[in-house]
Amino acid sequence: MRELVDGYGRVAKKLRLSVTDRCNFRCNFCMPKEPVWIPRSDVLSFEEHARLVRILTSMGVSRIRLTGGEPLVRRGVEKLVKIIATTPGVEEVTMTTNGFHLQSFAKTLAEAGLSSVTVSLHSLKPERFEEIIGVNGVFHRVLEGISAAKDAGLRVKINVVVVRGCNDDELYDFAELSRRTGITVKFIEFMPFDGERLWNLERVVKATEMLDILSKRYRLYPKAREHGSTTRYYGFRDSSVGEIGLVSSISEPFCFDCDRVRIKADGKLVPCMFSRDEYDLKPLLRSGATDEEIREFIRWAFSRKFRGVEAMLKTGELPQHIRPMYTLGG
Ligand code: SAM
Ligand code: SF4
Repeated sequence: MRELVDGYGRVAKKLRLSVTDRCNFRCNFCMPKEPVWIPRSDVLSFEEHARLVRILTSMGVSRIRLTGGEPLVRRGVEKLVKIIATTPGVEEVTMTTNGFHLQSFAKTLAEAGLSSVTVSLHSLKPERFEEIIGVNGVFHRVLEGISAAKDAGLRVKINVVVVRGCNDDELYDFAELSRRTGITVKFIEFMPFDGERLWNLERVVKATEMLDILSKRYRLYPKAREHGSTTRYYGFRDSSVGEIGLVSSISEPFCFDCDRVRIKADGKLVPCMFSRDEYDLKPLLRSGATDEEIREFIRWAFSRKFRGVEAMLKTGELPQHIRPMYTLGG
């Protein structure tokens, strides 16, 4: 097998596949007030997604994460999960979701072959949560979605985007939740991809600062970093239950061993989220190109992958506002 390798020798292993840019929430760090949606006819069909997954697995990509927008607002997404989960070469299918529809879908998704779900829950205070996501009356429904996912046998993680002055006073509350339930809580640094240019460096709580805060109360120990991961996981020395992840996408993005490739809902391949470069696969998919032709195009596109932002961080020139997060999927 010829692997998918970029110009710096990094090999793609993970695909983030955005199945829709639509969403029923309006998180202020992700969407502009008036989002512009991809025209429906430009959104890839499940057959097209499945074909791209087949092509990518033939190049060694084995871990697929479905995202969005909100993946669970794409009708029939469980069918796509099933197709992908049974594709030769796929080792795991996971999903990042806002949890709103999980209560209804958790069991079906688990049966379809989903192994793990990451639910975004940015506050444990109902009012604050609803203010962040821009929708009222859904906090308890998201919690019920998390319970349903656990009951369905899915591995569950929680994503918390930490924004200074908004929810950075809740680190201990989330740590307690993790210690109580065993659910891994991942604290994510606020990235410069909101829709209203709210982001600035002062609002970012760096992973090192979060670790300092958490270490005042807990005796944490670091776990080995998985290849290509932007997350450092920590366990609690006094408890076998619970785990914290710190996602240092801004302060320490680990670009040197990045093994991700992303595809937007309209079929644009994005080798690096910090670069404007996008490579449109849709014209090939819709003009009768062969798998080999698409494979070669992907190879060429991926070979041009941006080196990353590590060098830029030293000079403080972080690329900002390239595209709002809902158009890419995190
Ligand atoms: N709708 C799903 C959800 O919210 O989980 C999946 C898509 S969402 C774009 C993927 C992840 O990106 C979520 O955990 C979300 O909280 C996170 N996210 C969105 N905007 C972000 C930002 N500006 N910085 C860091 N993470 C962000
Ligand atoms: Fe929707 Fe997820 Fe973006 Fe929130 S973070 S607006 S739930 S896509």
